[in-house]
Amino acid sequence: MPMMQNVKNTIAQVVKEMIFPHYCCSCGRIGSILCKGCEYDIVCDRENICLVCKQLTIAKCLCSRCPASYTRAFVVSARNGAVAQLIDQFKFYRARDAALPLADLLVATIGQLPPETVIVPVPTIAPHIRQRGYDHTVLLARRIAQANGVCYTPLLRRRRNSRQRGSSRSQRQIQAQSAFVAKGKCVPDVPYLIIDDIATTGSTLEYAARALYGAGATEVWVAVVAVQPLD
Ligand SMILES: [Zn+2]
Ligand SMILES: [Zn+2]
Repeated sequence: MPMMQNVKNTIAQVVKEMIFPHYCCSCGRIGSILCKGCEYDIVCDRENICLVCKQLTIAKCLCSRCPASYTRAFVVSARNGAVAQLIDQFKFYRARDAALPLADLLVATIGQLPPETVIVPVPTIAPHIRQRGYDHTVLLARRIAQANGVCYTPLLRRRRNSRQRGSSRSQRQIQAQSAFVAKGKCVPDVPYLIIDDIATTGSTLEYAARALYGAGATEVWVAVVAVQPLD
């Protein structure tokens, strides 16, 4: 039966693409929502950007001016151009198909992960999952784990439903401090890689990382598709 279901899903996808073909959101070429050529260009143009101050950093997106508890950070790009369009489609226009190119941009940026790495999505608040019909960070995290052949574990949960969009910078930072709790214990000496789509102040990732350290992790990394440029 699962095989039959897969065949049905594939046929449905092919039919959907015949009726509503995708165009590359960067160059306009027909075929996919982001063509491989444009994906390659985005990854090649990648710069190391600090999640907090958005300034360029020397290496690994870690910044000497902005101390963080995570020990590695991966950023695909600033939120602009094709990356911004893809994220907006994915988050606000129910374009579930954007998960694949966005995850692939992260996979190319992150490179090969140690086989013991655990991939952890930043948990999305429930009303946003209901609105979209999918959990966008789960889709990204699952795909990244699958591409690397490593473990996916949704270890974090939100302590309460605190909406972040529209809040001021200081409000966001206060909300983030108490936002996350680990659902279980972490294993020491294993890298935990937290996945999110956008870093606005960097505080969500910082407090998500602290929740994992609190549960016993000794090494926490973070990866985001885009950093929101400062206003
Ligand atoms: Zn293209
Ligand atoms: Zn910085």
